[in-house]
Amino acid sequence: MSFDRFGRNINYLRISLTDKCNLRCVYCMPEDITFRPRAELLQDDEIDRLVQVFADLGFHKFRLTGGEPTVRANVVDIVGRIAQTPGVKTVAMTTNGLLLNELAQPLADAGLERVNISIDTLNPEKFKKVTRWGDVEDVWAGIDAATAAGLGIKLNAVVVRNYNDKEDVVDLARLTLHQPWQVRFIEMMPFGDVADFQQAGVVSQEELMATITAVLGPLSSVNGGELDGEAQLYRLADAPGTLGFISSVTQPFCASCTRARLTADGRLRLCLLREKEVDLLTPLRNGATNKQLKAIIEDGIWWKPWGHKLGEEVIPLNRVMSEIGG
Ligand code: SAM
Ligand code: SF4
Repeated sequence: MSFDRFGRNINYLRISLTDKCNLRCVYCMPEDITFRPRAELLQDDEIDRLVQVFADLGFHKFRLTGGEPTVRANVVDIVGRIAQTPGVKTVAMTTNGLLLNELAQPLADAGLERVNISIDTLNPEKFKKVTRWGDVEDVWAGIDAATAAGLGIKLNAVVVRNYNDKEDVVDLARLTLHQPWQVRFIEMMPFGDVADFQQAGVVSQEELMATITAVLGPLSSVNGGELDGEAQLYRLADAPGTLGFISSVTQPFCASCTRARLTADGRLRLCLLREKEVDLLTPLRNGATNKQLKAIIEDGIWWKPWGHKLGEEVIPLNRVMSEIGG
């Protein structure tokens, strides 16, 4: 098992399979972004090797993300191999859903259990505006395919002031009255190039809950207020689904954090909102043994930071969100 110096047991790895994406969401990346050359990214066999090393260290929950993980070549085979790795208990994915229409069933067959699908608004024009390139109908086709494939489904919406912070969040919340999904509202976080825009657009959980209850009625706390991963859960009266609020900026959940992240270029990122990273790609390519890789990972985990410093205007500048994966 891997522990950090605060006694947190770190056992959940989020792997960014690629920095590339078929959308350009305004809060995530600039439209003219330049992606890394393929040779700088972890190759399939390097991912397999690192997953085995992390599993040997007690990591049992894995989530694939991006950029957009479904645009990675061989994504189905990668999922299959991770799911078969001894010690791995669950494999999930965070995706924009655009390619799930074709991929949901093969991914489920390969061992994927759950998908978190990003959908910031149900309104087609606004969806296009937030994602710059997207068609919300493609996401719905992806959600239908994921349902048919038996995948567990959560929906993710990043809330951006003046884009989707009013009737759009109410429409999304209303979905839980008819579907057993968890619809999660994510506070926008500032990163790199797009930090100014993000900071101007943060909508707090308190404000969101007020907007939703004003139209749909009161929300009751689920699980006695205990976090589900990073989300505080609530339910509308008689709803089969739940609402999750992920408030990393205004209500950080560092005490219960069990996560580490592997960037597409092979860096171990210890906290989403802090720049600290450990290079795993270079030792891997220089012939490090599994024992040596484990020692490097364990040392990095030990120094995992606690708390973001956004209140002191310390914004992570070394990467944009699409390179870390959320
Ligand atoms: N492309 C996939 C997707 O959109 O779901 C996976 C990668 S994306 C970076 C992972 C999650 O991060 C998505 O739910 C996305 O909405 C969220 N995200 C992106 N930029 C963000 C930001 N600045 N603040 C908060 N969440 C963000
Ligand atoms: Fe792509 Fe996901 Fe970033 Fe949107 S949030 S640009 S879908 S990586």
